[in-house]
Amino acid sequence: MIVIMKQGAAPERIEAVVKRVEEMGYKVHLSRGEARTIVGIIGADDYKIHQDSFLALDGVENVVRIMQPFKLASRDFVEGNTCIDVNGAKIGGEQIAVFAGPCSVESREMILETAHMVKEGGATFLRGGAFKPRSSPYSFQGLGEEGLQYLAEAREQTGLPVITEVMSPDEVEVVGEYTDIFQVGARNTQNYSLLKALSRTSKPVFVKRGMSTTIQELLMSAEYVLSGGNMQVMVCERGIRTFEPYTRFTFDVNAIPAIKELSHLPVIADPAHGTGKWELVGAVAKAAVAAGADGIMVEVHPDPSKAWSDGAQSLTPKRFTKLMQELRAVAEAVGRKM
Ligand code: PEP
Ligand code: MN
Repeated sequence: MIVIMKQGAAPERIEAVVKRVEEMGYKVHLSRGEARTIVGIIGADDYKIHQDSFLALDGVENVVRIMQPFKLASRDFVEGNTCIDVNGAKIGGEQIAVFAGPCSVESREMILETAHMVKEGGATFLRGGAFKPRSSPYSFQGLGEEGLQYLAEAREQTGLPVITEVMSPDEVEVVGEYTDIFQVGARNTQNYSLLKALSRTSKPVFVKRGMSTTIQELLMSAEYVLSGGNMQVMVCERGIRTFEPYTRFTFDVNAIPAIKELSHLPVIADPAHGTGKWELVGAVAKAAVAAGADGIMVEVHPDPSKAWSDGAQSLTPKRFTKLMQELRAVAEAVGRKM
């Protein structure tokens, strides 16, 4: 439930509403928009609260039940769009965020070389997996903490903030020592213990859509992080499983405008995992930006034929740079910047 304050409501009026919510045993999320302040009531079953107990307070304009099962992720809760700032690099504003880098960190030299190349090409964030969720236990599982150290060195050299995957609650501490953004992979979208652990951190969380999770389920996963007190959450469409075997997954472009309609959270598109084929990555990236995505995540490898994971969907640095130029025109056409 949200309590919408009157335009220009005095601070003591807002304070009185907050006090009433806290007396009821619930937490508060304050959203101060340009026009008015919204007091969000967290942790409450809306039907247990009488709207009149707030409507009677001075300065209150309206009390609204949020009909969606996700509350903090809902558009009702926040005026405008959430914009996340990571050391000056923004996600969710006018600028399209570009997360680029290899699927896996393979060696120090390799990640440093790739980091410089993607920076040159126009990336705003460096991606790279150190803890890898592989479908086979016999596949390369990632360099672990050593890989995180190389990512941190690449950040130092390029200035690009880093995003890397965390797979379990007991990895949160070590990954958090190095990364700027936690990535929750498609195989962990509904790992609620992990989401709860991340909700207690102060770093942004990038939640990928599971290959068989609905849009609503994805937003409920984001809600887990938000409800634990971490408001820096973004979600990512990375393809879902359908009957079509030609592509690795089916990139659901519908999800982008759908989530933008339902939620204030930034939406990122990952056309690499969404297609599994580098030849298709560019076209789907452009479609995603045209559809309103706030950013794209792509895999870039100095020599994809030698990649230890996901080579078939990885762009060469040259192809990445070309894609960035093409995307710039699409971004401008839809009123965004790159
Ligand atoms: C990845 O980003 O390399 C990855 C494993 O992605 P997903 O979780 O979407 O499969
Ligand atoms: Mn990958």
